[in-house]
Amino acid sequence: MKKKLTIALSKGRISDDTGPLLRAAGIEPLEDPKHSRKLIFATSRAEVELVIIRAIDVPTYVQHGAADIGVVGKDVLMEHGGQGLYEMLDLNIARCKLMVAGLEGQTLPQNNLKVATKFVNCARRYFASQGRQVDVIKLYGAMELAPLVKLADCIVDIVSTGGTLRANGLVPLEHIADISTRLVVNKASMKLKHDEIQALLSDLRAAVEQGKQ
Ligand code: ATP
Ligand code: MG
Repeated sequence: MKKKLTIALSKGRISDDTGPLLRAAGIEPLEDPKHSRKLIFATSRAEVELVIIRAIDVPTYVQHGAADIGVVGKDVLMEHGGQGLYEMLDLNIARCKLMVAGLEGQTLPQNNLKVATKFVNCARRYFASQGRQVDVIKLYGAMELAPLVKLADCIVDIVSTGGTLRANGLVPLEHIADISTRLVVNKASMKLKHDEIQALLSDLRAAVEQGKQ
């Protein structure tokens, strides 16, 4: 008998965009997650179940083996640190960039920079790698507001079209990383459920390649 596989999906844009890839791999939830308050979904592949949770929680579930597999943005993964899991596949969806952004026309102070972000670890790591001293201020949303009200000199945030920045008089200033959605696997699951996971990975890899054409 095939071993049970639990896949944790990030709620929102990532689970929406992952749907077609999973479908191509023969995995479809038996009921539409968008019209359900359930958190666990059985699928058309009897051994596979989906849990749909906040993006920020996905690495934690996979790290502790509560899910065997996770689908999560590289930004969230970098912030988490990636302990206890392997990054196995770039799903090439929800593509964006992690950037430093600030007020248009402003030069950032080289030292004692005040940075507002929800990506505190990424921000600390990035500025430390450049030998720049920063004060990081943790926010949970609407980062664009921080420079406008002088809470911070700049922000570290996800940028895709730059529309939200522009609408608030901000511009991207420095590129930190290219971001896309990654498939991660719990390290113990990788050993214990090797065959099931490799089979799923190869189906998903094929679906990703098809999506690129
Ligand atoms: P919430 O917005 O509910 O606080 P969240 O920001 O974690 O949660 P999403 O906005 O759905 O959830 O973003 C999930 C992931 O999608 C992010 O971690 C990032 O990898 C990617 N992402 C975020 N914003 C964009 C964007 N504008 N374009 C493309 N990908 C994005
Ligand atoms: Mg968001």
